[in-house]
Amino acid sequence: MLLYKPFGARRKAGMTRNLKYDRGQAGGMAKKYKIVYDRRNCISAGVCVVMAPEYWVMDAPDGLADINPDKKPTTRDDGWQELVIDEKHLDENLQAAQGCPAQVIFIYELESGKQIYPKKEE
Ligand code: SF4
Repeated sequence: MLLYKPFGARRKAGMTRNLKYDRGQAGGMAKKYKIVYDRRNCISAGVCVVMAPEYWVMDAPDGLADINPDKKPTTRDDGWQELVIDEKHLDENLQAAQGCPAQVIFIYELESGKQIYPKKEE
């Protein structure tokens, strides 16, 4: 008996790799998420840049991370940065948020406003 199913077969069978999040595939619409970043409390550890190099950079003279300016994030008056991302870029940014030792990266479902990281007690 074949115990290991190739990825294509697993996908066909609905056995995708990451079932933690509702992918919104039933309605055919990809979800959007919002990254909200408390830059003032970044400690320059650089994990975000390693986990999601397309989305995080550390080019600023103060040594703190920024959401990649090429992605056109908004900067609030209080210095926090925000960026809406497509569902397909959620995993890498979740890894950045989870790996951030200062826990200054928050991720929300855009439509519902639900905070998905850090996970809130219900
Ligand atoms: S992982 Fe967190 S603390 Fe480290 S550079 Fe990125 S935002 Fe700053």
